[in-house]
Amino acid sequence: MLAQPRIVEEIKTRPVEIGPGLSVGGLEVILMAGPCSVESYEQTRAAAEAVYQSGGRVLRGGAFKPRSSPHSFQGLGLEGLKLLRAVADEFGLLVISEALAVEYVSAAAEYADIIQIGSRNMQHFPLLWAVGETNKPVVLKRGFMSTVQEWLLAAEHIATRGNERIILCERGIRTFETATRNTLDTNAIALVKQSSPFPVIGDPSHATGRADLVIPAARAAIAAGADGLLVEIHPNPAAALSDGEQSLPLAMLPYLVDETKRIALAMGRGII
Ligand code: PEP
Ligand code: MN
Repeated sequence: MLAQPRIVEEIKTRPVEIGPGLSVGGLEVILMAGPCSVESYEQTRAAAEAVYQSGGRVLRGGAFKPRSSPHSFQGLGLEGLKLLRAVADEFGLLVISEALAVEYVSAAAEYADIIQIGSRNMQHFPLLWAVGETNKPVVLKRGFMSTVQEWLLAAEHIATRGNERIILCERGIRTFETATRNTLDTNAIALVKQSSPFPVIGDPSHATGRADLVIPAARAAIAAGADGLLVEIHPNPAAALSDGEQSLPLAMLPYLVDETKRIALAMGRGII
């Protein structure tokens, strides 16, 4: 018997339906995986096949890319979004893709099942209002220089326009540490599970910037309470047009699923 009163977590999460019979924030941890950028039909199809074979139901892929350098690959644009949709349909997968600006929201809503708002756009209020006027689930990435409170207020900007199908995504924040690209804030995952109705997923790829840290960070995100994972994979990471150094080779995806499943089970959950 415990002599001391225990301080218990009070989880506030309300599940968000992303497709028929599939919700983020329920008992299942939802895997979303795919390339950072849609580069070609072959590359996207290979990634989609790996997701499908691992039991995943959601394919990620960037078509309009927010790149730090204007000289880097900027994405295939609308053509990439259509290609992503076509490949996902071959395998019966849902699609998540980023709407980089207000003018791309209608295309994202047409071709994707889930609209992603990127870290750099977390406080782009007109963009938040625009996705708030769609009926699509929105993954709101945390700004890498934003506090939890700013992140939750950004979510409210979406909700006040009528769309409450919001999923938060902790993708790492900038700290004094330079050994990794960002720092995964597992505190924030645990905190928003208690202070917000919106489910939260973890992005171990951008949080670490290193393929060899992706699986450990994914395990940590689930242990902290994450309702899903957003993971970058690539058939040939060394040749990727963006974020190759943090992309898992396709053959690693079953290991990620296997290892994170153990953590999910320990949390009384499954992973799909
Ligand atoms: C991405 O998901 O590829 C991406 C650009 O992420 P973030 O906005 O978190 O940098
Ligand atoms: Mn990326």
